[in-house]
Amino acid sequence: MKKIICMLLAVMLLPVSACAQPVEPDLSAYDTSGKAEIPMEILGGLDQATREDLLEEPKYVALTFDDGPRADTTGRLLDGLLERGAAATFFVIGEQVPCNEDLLRRMRAEGHQIGNHTYSHVRLLKAEKDMVVEEVHKTEVLLKEAVGEGDFWLRPPYGLIGCERSKLIKTPMIYWSVDPQDWKLLDKGKVVDAVLAAVQPGDIILLHDFYSTSVDAALEIIDRLQADGYAFVTVEELFRIQGVEPQEGTLYARPDRVREVK
Ligand SMILES: [Zn+2]
Repeated sequence: MKKIICMLLAVMLLPVSACAQPVEPDLSAYDTSGKAEIPMEILGGLDQATREDLLEEPKYVALTFDDGPRADTTGRLLDGLLERGAAATFFVIGEQVPCNEDLLRRMRAEGHQIGNHTYSHVRLLKAEKDMVVEEVHKTEVLLKEAVGEGDFWLRPPYGLIGCERSKLIKTPMIYWSVDPQDWKLLDKGKVVDAVLAAVQPGDIILLHDFYSTSVDAALEIIDRLQADGYAFVTVEELFRIQGVEPQEGTLYARPDRVREVK
């Protein structure tokens, strides 16, 4: 008996490997193909209104982050998103791409959407047409070099582009429907409150991964909304879920709401 115990101990104490193997991220949480499954034994004990409410979940929403990537804030955000099984969309500034390619590759590998936020964050509304094309194209090239082929939707800086210049854009353009003005508040609690007071299913929320307070706020927003039956998907997924085919050169506040460009 003593011999058997010693053998068992020896097996248990054997080092499995000299170094830990990298763990492939579990992307199954991003599956948006169906509704939440709620066991019948739970549904059976609920009143009609609560039951209907639960069956409607999850409520889908898209978090979007502008002006990154930034090494010390975006990496922490990606860690938090992965932990929570939440997807997001990053509208990236071309100038920020060099030296941050690893962050971009991580975004793509972990199921996030990458978009274009121009090369140098210009006001497209006032820019010469050649410059509009160049600002978008230059960023597209950098993104392709970093992560490979893709359709990098545009978020015009400040949400401004104008009718004439929007005709030059060959992808859908994304505005937002919830703006907590995180860049101005720079306060986690206030940003969380502003988003929670306004958010509805189908919304596109504007944040900036450039600010540490915004990263903190985003992670708390996810925790609070997930507890309320929300699921976080990319903008592209939000369109697919709502059955909307996005059109190039059109600026959307949400998949079901086009923003007029003047
Ligand atoms: Zn911006």
